[in-house]
Amino acid sequence: MQTSREKLQSRRSFCLCCIGGAGAAALGWLTPRQAFAEARGIVSLIKDSAATSPIMTHRLRNNVSVLEGSGGNIAVLTGADGKVLVDGGIGVSRPQLIKALDALGGEPITHLINTHWHFDHTDGNEWLHAAGARIIAHQNTKKHLSEIQRVEDWDYNFLPPPSGAIPSEVITNARELKLNGMSIALKYYGPAHTDGDLSVAFAEANIFHAGDTFWNGIYPFIDYSTGGSIDGTIAACDATLAATNNDTIIIPGHGKPVSNKAELKEFRDMLAAIRDNVAKLKSAGKTRDEAVDARPTAAFDAKWGQFVIDPGFFTRIVYQGV
Ligand SMILES: [Zn+2]
Repeated sequence: MQTSREKLQSRRSFCLCCIGGAGAAALGWLTPRQAFAEARGIVSLIKDSAATSPIMTHRLRNNVSVLEGSGGNIAVLTGADGKVLVDGGIGVSRPQLIKALDALGGEPITHLINTHWHFDHTDGNEWLHAAGARIIAHQNTKKHLSEIQRVEDWDYNFLPPPSGAIPSEVITNARELKLNGMSIALKYYGPAHTDGDLSVAFAEANIFHAGDTFWNGIYPFIDYSTGGSIDGTIAACDATLAATNNDTIIIPGHGKPVSNKAELKEFRDMLAAIRDNVAKLKSAGKTRDEAVDARPTAAFDAKWGQFVIDPGFFTRIVYQGV
């Protein structure tokens, strides 16, 4: 039997050799990015909601704000050096994002940091680069954005974006920037939600963007197809808890955008409890579907199961990694 990794490899190499366009179209299965978005549940849900959602601006402190409503939560630092964005949202919400960014000040957008490669954090790269942003990311994020990606759990292929949308500066472990009088620390988590997750800490403001290693109040997606895992996600939560204090404003990738250590700790403990429940079922010989039927998330569903990742989906995600 083929493992999903082998399937992924064979599909990816197949995709790459026919990606010329005409050949792919003639084969009838590799359709353009937009067509997939029309067809596919989670992706289209996120995209459609971004196209129509207003952007909510939450002003935090020390010229740092968070913009909510275009895919992942976007942090913005303003100042004389130009606007620094953490994540670029979804391209379709560009008009609303421009309005929200203009309201924060007249300076140009000069820097964009991608916390990881997922489209709801990088789909805006192209227009933000055209607007003047240098794009910085982990080297694995650049690698994934440079080639076709298949997310098995989403049943979705992402075509590589135009070259301007590819990060031009990569980091392997850590980097510190000094912009607008702020020390901005970028740090690689190691494999967690994907294999390219960065945290971004604004030191003087005591604000910390955790990317998609933290979904505030909702079950998270974890992308095994590009190196994520449940254990890596729990380890990332521990790293964030160790790097922050009770006054730190923690920005999650998804969910209520202004958070803190107590909420992150609750998220981490939820992950660990469900991980243990699912691991017990798996080691007792239950299949994935039997594990879902046993409802190992039941105690948490009322609070955490209200977004796109439902209890059954989250159980399958955890089952894969224990
Ligand atoms: Zn993500």
